[in-house]
Amino acid sequence: MADPTQRDSLGVVDAQDLYPHPGPGVLAQMGDGGHETVTHVVDEPTGLRAIIAIHSTVLGPALGGLRWFRYPTEQAALTDVLRLSQGMTLKNAAAGLSLGGGKAVIVDDGSITDRKAALEAFGGGVERLGGAYITAEDVGTTVADLVVVSNTTSHVAGLDEAHGGSGDPSPLTARGIVASMRAAASRLWGSDSLEGRTVAIQGVGKVGSNLARLLAGAGASLIVSDRSEDAVASVVGATGANVVGPNEILSVPCDILAPCAMGAVLDETTILSLHCRAVVGSANNQLATEQDATRLAEAGILYVPDFVANAGGVINIAVERQAGGYSRSDAERAVDAIGARVGLVLDTAGAGSTVDAAKALAGDRLHAARPR
Ligand code: NAD
Repeated sequence: MADPTQRDSLGVVDAQDLYPHPGPGVLAQMGDGGHETVTHVVDEPTGLRAIIAIHSTVLGPALGGLRWFRYPTEQAALTDVLRLSQGMTLKNAAAGLSLGGGKAVIVDDGSITDRKAALEAFGGGVERLGGAYITAEDVGTTVADLVVVSNTTSHVAGLDEAHGGSGDPSPLTARGIVASMRAAASRLWGSDSLEGRTVAIQGVGKVGSNLARLLAGAGASLIVSDRSEDAVASVVGATGANVVGPNEILSVPCDILAPCAMGAVLDETTILSLHCRAVVGSANNQLATEQDATRLAEAGILYVPDFVANAGGVINIAVERQAGGYSRSDAERAVDAIGARVGLVLDTAGAGSTVDAAKALAGDRLHAARPR
């Protein structure tokens, strides 16, 4: 091996001498998913380390939330932000929005002591991207956090009303899930009425609790489950829902199962235990693998792709950004249109994978917009 201290005529160490067998690594991982830009934001004074992944700006600036999370490894953080930003491209394209896909994660290793200063440093990183990435709320961040981020960048969406935003998007996400359920009901039972249908909801947090209230109002009967006893008690008080334990909710007999907690809940094992006719929920990345869409179709279970059904929040943000300013009734109309989009996806899929059909819908928009 060459002397690693050997330098060329400009005094630069030859990287090939230092690393003779680079092999596939971080750069390959960042390139394989077709991402446009992946930025590592570092701020030594606050201990901030964040990754901003811009997957696509073909349809417009890349919109996606900021996740604050204790990842077990840096690799896990990178994998998460790359996958989530790809998903945002699909979600925003399938929803018909003029927005691309992006996502950000703060890689929390326990060294950040001043949350406000770290969030402001993160905002500085967003600002340096010049509007190519617009940040919003996600797991581990709140609307109050976004208000802090907005001290150092204007490229923030989903602020509260006092700061010129439209507030918590969860009620509109839940509204979009109901519209999706109605489209699924039309297909399965010939009527979009949810009256008398049994819906099992896994996770009654911000989206699941709003969903439960809307469904109770529509005459559905509810079975709910949550790890939080307080969350369950509040929904039971408001809707009279029946309760089962977290280990039972996926196999409980029902018409529609609504995963509204975590991702990857549908896999080759859990799919075998389902006793429902349709799966329609808000959780991102509900399928553990792509083959699970085929497994669901083969089991005769209609699956409404999560990235189509749960777009109410991003649609709300798109309305927030419209020229005339935010209008709640415009947002509700746009979110209700998710139902027609789900109908189109189900018609296109026929007996095949609804995920493939939804990806094709998103792909058509991206293809038409891509500069030739
Ligand atoms: P949340 O944190 O408010 O609620 C999630 C709930 O799930 C919590 O109450 C938690 O206790 C519960 N939970 C976790 N694991 C569980 C388990 N194994 N069994 C039962 N309950 C469990 O989150 P949220 O904002 O309501 O979002 C729910 C899902 O929808 C997430 O996957 C999120 O990414 C997705 N989503 C949310 C929005 C939105 O507008 N909030 C938009 C799109 C997608």
